[in-house]
Amino acid sequence: MGDHDSGLALTRAVHDRAAEHRLDEAWLAAAWTAPESRVLVVERGNVHWTDAGGPALVLVAPRDAPDGERYFLGVDPDGTAYFAVSADALPERPDAQTGHLYTLGSVLGERDAGLLVHAFGLENWHRTHGFCARCGQPSEAVAAGHVRKCTVCGTEHFPRTDPAVIMLVVDPAGRALLGRQPSWPEKMFSTLAGFVEPGESLRQAVVREVAEEAGVRVADVTYVDSQPWPFPSSLMLGFHATSVDDHIDVDGTEIAEARWFTRDELRAATEAGEVKLPGPISISRHLIELWYGEKFPEDVTGTIRRN
Ligand SMILES: [Zn+2]
Repeated sequence: MGDHDSGLALTRAVHDRAAEHRLDEAWLAAAWTAPESRVLVVERGNVHWTDAGGPALVLVAPRDAPDGERYFLGVDPDGTAYFAVSADALPERPDAQTGHLYTLGSVLGERDAGLLVHAFGLENWHRTHGFCARCGQPSEAVAAGHVRKCTVCGTEHFPRTDPAVIMLVVDPAGRALLGRQPSWPEKMFSTLAGFVEPGESLRQAVVREVAEEAGVRVADVTYVDSQPWPFPSSLMLGFHATSVDDHIDVDGTEIAEARWFTRDELRAATEAGEVKLPGPISISRHLIELWYGEKFPEDVTGTIRRN
């Protein structure tokens, strides 16, 4: 496994983003006309994929791509250039299936998972940022899709990423804190999480969120890993934290219920179907399994409505 391989489904990208080409119109034009270049057609996160020889994205030659906003994603070690095209509808393709990053992210190979998370993140942002936040006039994609520029005042806008902390808190006895949001199904439990606020460090965000949501006082915070989560534009920053004691006082708004679990209790509860956990694509599952010491069987996964 390479050093990029953290075990997180959406953190496996291997393409070189080759940002030095984004402003090089001649290079981009040549890459777009090269028959060996490959294009991922994306429509609101939906893409074509096939399962012949393992799950893989359908990547087409530039001449076979539909019209649409074009983003340069990067190159791979053999020099192949990758683009995404944001289409209003996926072309008819009887030989392929349609899937979404949310379900494909953990089954695709590392190259394809990386291309898709990059393309979907950009597509989402472009679709929802068509106007200048400064003057309200239309903006247009520049820099091969990695910047939007206002057509009137010239302000450049960069793709938005919202940092969110997500943390597994462990009490002095080694038990893990899992909580349930009111909108989730009754048995669904996960780690606590929340957005970083302006002017706040990551550690401060962890301490504040755990206190707000569960009334638990955090002692120590250790960074574990991160994963892009473009549903729509988050970057999940994963932590393990320890609490000063086992006192819980849930806020009842963001978290309806929170409980400490020993490993044995969590095993028994998941085996009995009394507790469901977030899916293997999520960093929360990863944080829980790192504490638990092994992976859970697939049937412990619950369903959370995605944003
Ligand atoms: Zn403007």
